[in-house]
Amino acid sequence: MILDQKKTTLAYRCPSCLGVPTSMVGAFSLSGDLFKLKCSCGGSHLNVEKTSDGKIRLTVPCLACPTPHTYVVSQNVFFGSDVFVIPCNLSGIDICFIGKENEVTKAIEHSNEEIMRALGDAPADSLKCNEDDYVDHAIFDMITYVISDLCEEGKVYCRCEDGHGDYVADILKDTVLVRCKNCGASKAIPARGTYDAEEFLKASELKLD
Ligand SMILES: [Zn+2]
Ligand SMILES: [Zn+2]
Ligand SMILES: [Zn+2]
Repeated sequence: MILDQKKTTLAYRCPSCLGVPTSMVGAFSLSGDLFKLKCSCGGSHLNVEKTSDGKIRLTVPCLACPTPHTYVVSQNVFFGSDVFVIPCNLSGIDICFIGKENEVTKAIEHSNEEIMRALGDAPADSLKCNEDDYVDHAIFDMITYVISDLCEEGKVYCRCEDGHGDYVADILKDTVLVRCKNCGASKAIPARGTYDAEEFLKASELKLD
């Protein structure tokens, strides 16, 4: 572990464009209050701050969750790791990569493969053929995951008084039907393929009617 160099490669998965903005971060970059790593698409950024006790706080946007995740790591981990990958603790998707440049690149490549598998890499108009069951499952997983997350955060609205809805998600052929068992309000979420899943990942609330 070479700490005297005090620099590391930092990268994260942009929820807007699925790109992986990467930057070299030295101790000097962190001498200010806040270091921001922005994605070139303008859709997201990651914040790095030093805490009062000298640790590093990372605020990382997540492609599965509506709000960013915060992690605190020691400077040893931040500047001294070969590679340190942080997954979203809910979805398991790797969202942040820290370490030596070549190791980080490898970790990102590995993560790219997982994302491609999860979202499917077929163009939207060819998704009628459901030969690849795995891809379809991944799309439904992604969508139901976002739904449960929205439920947990109280961001699903129906005709019931706030907080009194009781929601179930039914997986149909190419939609996920979310409905409230109490008032019967429902909403069909398209799940025809990659594009739908990606769109739904951006949802910050869900209104049933
Ligand atoms: Zn982006
Ligand atoms: Zn997450
Ligand atoms: Zn209801």
